[in-house]
Amino acid sequence: MQASVRVQDNLALQEAMSLAGERGLDLAVLFCLDAGYPEANERSFAFLLDGLGDVSAGLAKLGLKLTIVAGSPLEAVPLAARQAAVLVTDQGYMPLQRRWRQQISEAVKCPVILVEDNISVPVGVSSDHEEWTAATLRPKLMRLADLEPLPVPLPFPNCRFWAPAVSAWSEAGLKVLEGMPSRSWLDWLPIDHGVPATNLAGGESAALHRWSSFMQVGLERYDTDRNDPNLEGSSGLAPYLHFGHLSPLTLLRDLKASGRWVPAVSYRRAGEDPASKFLDEVLVRRELSINFVWYNPVFATFQGLPEWARRTLGQHKADQREYVYSDRDWETARTHDEAWNAAQTQLVTTGIMHGYMRMYWGKKLLEWNSEPAQALELALRLNNRYALDGRDPNSYAGVAWCFGKHDRPWAERSVYGLVRCMTSGGLARKFDLRAYVERFIPPS
Ligand SMILES: Cc1cc2nc3c(=O)[nH]c(=O)nc-3n(C[C@H](O)[C@H](O)[C@H](O)COP(=O)(O)OP(=O)(O)OC[C@H]3O[C@@H](n4cnc5c(N)ncnc54)[C@H](O)[C@@H]3O)c2cc1C
Repeated sequence: MQASVRVQDNLALQEAMSLAGERGLDLAVLFCLDAGYPEANERSFAFLLDGLGDVSAGLAKLGLKLTIVAGSPLEAVPLAARQAAVLVTDQGYMPLQRRWRQQISEAVKCPVILVEDNISVPVGVSSDHEEWTAATLRPKLMRLADLEPLPVPLPFPNCRFWAPAVSAWSEAGLKVLEGMPSRSWLDWLPIDHGVPATNLAGGESAALHRWSSFMQVGLERYDTDRNDPNLEGSSGLAPYLHFGHLSPLTLLRDLKASGRWVPAVSYRRAGEDPASKFLDEVLVRRELSINFVWYNPVFATFQGLPEWARRTLGQHKADQREYVYSDRDWETARTHDEAWNAAQTQLVTTGIMHGYMRMYWGKKLLEWNSEPAQALELALRLNNRYALDGRDPNSYAGVAWCFGKHDRPWAERSVYGLVRCMTSGGLARKFDLRAYVERFIPPS
């Protein structure tokens, strides 16, 4: 278990349980808590540990045990799989997650089954190449997602649990973490403690609770309220989807069951109905991001942008910038712009930044920086350090979008060239900007 830290709609777990049940085999469920995971810190680990606590409790109800080993899966999984008839794992889309799975499948002798359950249509099935925009992916994805029968949760078959003896782990220099996973583990984990945990509860139960209340109350107003940061009209599900505490399949199935699934093959049609608009974000935009990191080997860099965007930003590199800030000014929210400072403060203090402000935040990093490639790297660094949903395919596609990815050329202007720009005047026309600013920067 790595990318799907949940029990419900965990198709990898379900597959493993079915195989064990059918063949009369024991089942070991293993999670590797790797303190060396890139950009991991106290904030992200707190959320992860909430999720592991829920999984431990959920598996215990099924008579199973979650074994948590401190260290890299590259060492722990092959060791655990020495006696295995089959190894089942979930899918992750970031390069490290892919490398882990590749290297582990080469290191073990048993067959490996990889299950994609954090996506509506497996990434290689919806498209065999990098898509230009949402418009090119949407029709393919919508048709397939609608055809594909959504998995119905099966009753879990009985199977016995197994875990390698503690001595086997310690001989290999690995440590089994005993007891119920909880945030108290943060005290001794060798991670970056510079970014403190927030009080947002992670885990499957918090995720399902948030989803059901959003479905009952928030969804109806999603199309009108989601772009107003003062209304908190979006679902707030991104951290749960990122950590695999919630599967998009759960969302799709619930919407289908409630009769609100209207496959919209065009963005205009999606805009007519709040549930379709939500589906367009969670399905099309999210899976477009996965398509980006899957097929574009330089997705995390300036080179990952479309050729027209790189060219136009290059042509405008020497344009006079109204302001230029140091990385420290940006990180500590010390720009002249209260809207930007408020957004950065929201991110640093809560681990969340409202989606509409995120676009503005990224655009201004581009505008008030003398080097577009550095601005892109800085945006990723800040996003991934502070955001609870950071280090996700959406992080890379979202930041790249501010620099022209998955977008089209607009009217030419200074600094941005043909890349779409955003202004604080535009924000103020959409919502009460002062109220937003004062929430995060109280007037002195
Ligand atoms: C500069 C920048 C950085 C971003 N960084 C991240 C990030 O680190 N992690 C992240 O998950 N998203 C990121 N996004 C995309 C988007 O802003 C967030 O997914 C959204 O704000 C999350 O809030 P929510 O869960 O309330 O979204 P909702 O509006 O309720 O949407 C539901 C779900 O749909 C998906 N979604 C929504 N909007 C987008 C989008 N534009 N692109 C892709 N998927 C989307 C998300 O999974 C989201 O949880 C970024 C966008 C920008 C412009």
